[in-house]
Amino acid sequence: MRVGVVTIFPDFVKVIKDYGVIAQAVENGLIDIEIFNLRDFTTDKHKVVDDYPYGGGPGMVMKPEPFFRFFEFYNQKYGKPYVLLTTPQGKRLTNSFAQELASKEHILIICGRYEGIDERVSHFVDEEVSIGDYVLTGGELPAMVVIDVVSRFVSGVVEEESVKNDSFYNDLLDHPHYTRPREIEGFKVPEVLVSGNHEEVELWRRKESLKKTILKRPDLFMKHAFDDLDKKALIS
Ligand code: SAM
Repeated sequence: MRVGVVTIFPDFVKVIKDYGVIAQAVENGLIDIEIFNLRDFTTDKHKVVDDYPYGGGPGMVMKPEPFFRFFEFYNQKYGKPYVLLTTPQGKRLTNSFAQELASKEHILIICGRYEGIDERVSHFVDEEVSIGDYVLTGGELPAMVVIDVVSRFVSGVVEEESVKNDSFYNDLLDHPHYTRPREIEGFKVPEVLVSGNHEEVELWRRKESLKKTILKRPDLFMKHAFDDLDKKALIS
C-alpha cells in the first residue's frame, strides 16, 4: 500500500515510520509512506501557506494554491490516490472505516492547520476523516492515527489472528492478558490459563470478553452477532 501525507510539519509525521510494527512494515515493503512539505509548493520567498479569511474573523486559512500545485505534481508522479482530508467534520474513524481504507492501494492524507483549508481544496478530496469529536491544532496526529490503524489491516503487517482478537473486531472488547510471573504480591494468574486445556482457555477468554463488553461498552454488546462459542460461554 502506498500512503502519501502532505503537511507543513513533515518532521512531526516522519516518526510514524521509525517505530514498531509500522517501521517493520515499511522495511518489509508492505507499506510505502512518503511525506511532503506543503511549503515546497509555494512560490514566494517566505514560503507562505496561510492568509487572512475573506469576510474577516479570527485565525488564518491555508491558501489553496500550494495544494493545487502539490496535487498536480503528485498525480503526475504517482497517479491518482484516494484523497483523505483530516477534519473534525469528517467521517469518524472506526475499525470498519480503517478496514475499508486498507483495501485501497494508494491513499493521500491532507493535514490542515490554522482555521483549516480553503474550501476549494475539497474538489480534490474523496473522503473527509475525523479521529473524534474534539478539535486538534493540526491534521498531523490524525494522519498518523489513520496510518497506524489502517496499517494493522494491511495483509502481513500484524498477524490476522491477533487483529481478529483485538477490541472492536466483531463488536467485542478484548479479553484480559497475563504474562509471567504466575504470581506477584499475592495477585495470581487465573488457573484456567495455566491448565493447558485449550478449549477451556478459549471459552474463558470469550466469557471475559463478553463480560468486559457488557460492563464497559453495552452499545457494542447490543451490536455483537452471537455465535456458538458465545452461547457456550454465556451458559458456562
Ligand atoms: N476550524 C476547524 C473546525 O472547527 O472544523 C478546525 C480547524 S483545526 C484547528 C486545524 C486542523 O486540524 C484541521 O484542518 C484538521 O486538519 C485538523 N483536525 C483538528 N481536529 C481534528 C479531528 N478531530 N480529526 C481530524 N482532523 C482534525
